[in-house]
Amino acid sequence: MSTQTTANSAEVAISAQVSILAKQQSVRTQVFWLLAAIVLAVGLPFVSNDYWVSIGTRAAIYWVLISGLNLVVGFAGQLAIGYVALLTIGAYTTSVLTAGKVFDPISVWLALPIASVMGAIFGVIVGLPALRLRTFYFAMTTLGFATIVTQIALAWQSVTGGGIGIPGPEMPAPFDDNLGFYYLCLGLAAVCTWLTANIARSRFGSGLIAVRDAEVAAEACGISKSHLLIPVFILAGALAAFSGGLFAGLQTYVTPDAFTFELSLLFFISILIGGRGSIYGPMIGTIILVILPEIAAPLAAWSTFLYAFLLLVIVLAMPGGIAVLLDFNNRRPLAKHRTVAPETQMLAALNPHNRSSNNSLTLQDIVLTFGSVRAIDGVTLEVKPGKIHGLIGPNGSGKTTTLNVISGYYSPNQGTMTFGQTALPTGLPHLRASRGIARTFQTPRIVGEISVLENVMIGGATKGKANFLEALLAMPKEKAERKALKDRALALLAVVGLGSLAHVRTDRLQHSELRFIEIARALMIAPDFLMLDEPAAGLSSDEINKLGALIQAISACGTGVLLVEHHVDLIFAICDDVTVLNLGKILAAGTPDEIRAHKEVVNAYLGG
Ligand code: ADP
Ligand code: MG
Repeated sequence: MSTQTTANSAEVAISAQVSILAKQQSVRTQVFWLLAAIVLAVGLPFVSNDYWVSIGTRAAIYWVLISGLNLVVGFAGQLAIGYVALLTIGAYTTSVLTAGKVFDPISVWLALPIASVMGAIFGVIVGLPALRLRTFYFAMTTLGFATIVTQIALAWQSVTGGGIGIPGPEMPAPFDDNLGFYYLCLGLAAVCTWLTANIARSRFGSGLIAVRDAEVAAEACGISKSHLLIPVFILAGALAAFSGGLFAGLQTYVTPDAFTFELSLLFFISILIGGRGSIYGPMIGTIILVILPEIAAPLAAWSTFLYAFLLLVIVLAMPGGIAVLLDFNNRRPLAKHRTVAPETQMLAALNPHNRSSNNSLTLQDIVLTFGSVRAIDGVTLEVKPGKIHGLIGPNGSGKTTTLNVISGYYSPNQGTMTFGQTALPTGLPHLRASRGIARTFQTPRIVGEISVLENVMIGGATKGKANFLEALLAMPKEKAERKALKDRALALLAVVGLGSLAHVRTDRLQHSELRFIEIARALMIAPDFLMLDEPAAGLSSDEINKLGALIQAISACGTGVLLVEHHVDLIFAICDDVTVLNLGKILAAGTPDEIRAHKEVVNAYLGG
């Protein structure tokens, strides 16, 4: 036994080292690619002609829009397919203002920011339906909006020039020739890359991905979808309209037929083939989609075919897009026969016992019906701080539903809930984390496409104080906060025994490991009250023992634990109190010994 433990810990130590080395190497490759891209972009005019410089300019302008849209589509997972509308608004606003169609002509340097403000306003208007509508309906509203904008541009002749159009803005020197304009657009594209990469790295970026792939878990971690999405819509709208102003500068004349649906699709598909949740993937996607029609030009008749073919190949052969191709770190094989090795002794220092918050959770006579089914029928229970309260019962007896009521996903028809001295509001799941309430789920709700560490960091969403603007500009306050969050997440991963897998993409892990990630994520807020929904399901007996010790260590820090479980051995081994549910009603409640001896419980659930 002891030799096996030594072998295991040696393996864990080695794989931890391998993981750190791989991380360093991946940072080095990233820096290499970044430098290569800069050299290539800056050097383009020296090795090519005006034709390619104008193509480069077009790619840079599109990227200004796509970088913002990427946060909406690639990170938040919202199907905004009609973003050409915001490009149109930006192009016309800039052109109308510089041409003096409404007021006296103004400088393009003033017109571009005004266009961005317009874009920000319309970005929110177009985005708002996403907070209520399901994906496809939202996609249709963005498309409808794009049609309306083009129709207005056509009809409002006195301002937009209708079908004839209006002249695009003239750029002042030194940006008035091809080369100057190229470097201007390139510089702006670089700034946009930096800004959106800052958001992607911040808690807002991981929050967006959490909303996309694990919305319910995101809410439980205190992430509010609307609070998160609105600043993103503002940013994406502003960038899109700014890009529109530059786009108008590229055209001598701005006419409605320049803003086609194909252009909108190009923006969207660049992100799709680039890969969701990546910055560099969609950037490469944009470059490919801008260059492709040029290369395919000699085969004019075939260009659409090639375009469609490439798209199919990429979507079918690499569903993760270009980003997955670039993810060298996750190609390395993981150690086989991994074991989770929790280091629970470190927990007390991370989540010090907060004696002032001696909060008990009490449910009083809770009733919840689904149609004619009384899923919970008069449940009363109390979970004291520092105690482990087991909740057991046959499948369908209402255990998960009880947790969902406490979490605020369901509002009970009857009964009261209090936590400490105050009532817990019904509904409002995203307000639980700030009250110190955390949970895990019966089916782990984890984001597969990001690293284990990033998943755990999502749990600390409510701990961040830096606002969106501070994150956008990577202000020192936000950086320090992010580092603290990361250090805490790494420490908690060591506590649950997954430190060596911190930088691995989560969808490569085993099911049992996901359960421990969820616990680490829940511990990020140093919860006063923790709900665990069947954490031992799918675990080996060795892992169940380690889980038991971990739960005991958590409650020893003063956290009240409500443990839903089918493994009654675990329940009887670690719980202070047990409540047994059957058909939504409490069948019995008491100490483990009392429950073990309870006749009805033995007959109905434990078996003779
Ligand atoms: P347990 O976790 O104890 O296995 P649940 O709490 O998931 O049981 O379910 C309790 C009862 O409520 C079951 O009869 C289940 O079918 C019903 N139920 C749970 N969620 C819903 C829902 N969203 N809509 C309708 N019925 C539901
Ligand atoms: Mg359940």
